[in-house]
Amino acid sequence: MIELKKQVIEYAQKLNSTNLSPLRSGNVSVRVNNNGVEGFLLTPSGKRYESLIPEDIVFLALKEKYDNLKLFNTGLNPSSEWRFHQDIYLKKIEAKAIVHAHSPHATAVSAHGNSIPAFHYMVALAGGDDIKCAEYATFGTDDLSTNILKALEKRKACLMSNHGQVAFGTNLKQAFELAEEVENICHQYIIALKIGKPKILSWAEMNKILDKIKHYKKA
Ligand code: 13P
Ligand code: ZN
Repeated sequence: MIELKKQVIEYAQKLNSTNLSPLRSGNVSVRVNNNGVEGFLLTPSGKRYESLIPEDIVFLALKEKYDNLKLFNTGLNPSSEWRFHQDIYLKKIEAKAIVHAHSPHATAVSAHGNSIPAFHYMVALAGGDDIKCAEYATFGTDDLSTNILKALEKRKACLMSNHGQVAFGTNLKQAFELAEEVENICHQYIIALKIGKPKILSWAEMNKILDKIKHYKKA
């Protein structure tokens, strides 16, 4: 457990060092079984990532709702976004780690509230022929979680309107890398829009890509 907590801290700090999310914005979690209880380890709310210690990382069970935050009076509260972390783990068995970031280009694109179309084949990394944008809802709410789950249908990453992005993977490295890819795609999309209307790849071509990336070997 301590090793996984250290990994959560490592990736939370990477949010800052890679400029994916500044200061205390964003959050990171990893699925874990704690003495027979299915749940996840999550970054605490409102603490700067540079000063995190393993004791700050909060365990939440998958089956419990934490509306009564008094439960956490003895330590730090879990991230205000525990609802969508919990709901993603409940709905997606393949999700083993989640990264939420206010990365600059993804956040800028999210402010328009639209999906990113297949202007580049790498859009397929999120799982389909576009990257959806979850409808806006206040941070930390059930509504935001519901909207994110909708945007993540058949997808591994999505934008969050007027907020940022969320990505999941089979481990923290993979989830973090996907968040970095989404940020990069958003950066390229902004540049492409500056010089006119980009050409969008067809569904048939994207289908080919989706099949091809299944066999793409990553070193
Ligand atoms: P927390 O510090 O509560 O995780 O909030 C950061 C954030 O990004 C909320 O959306
Ligand atoms: Zn956020």
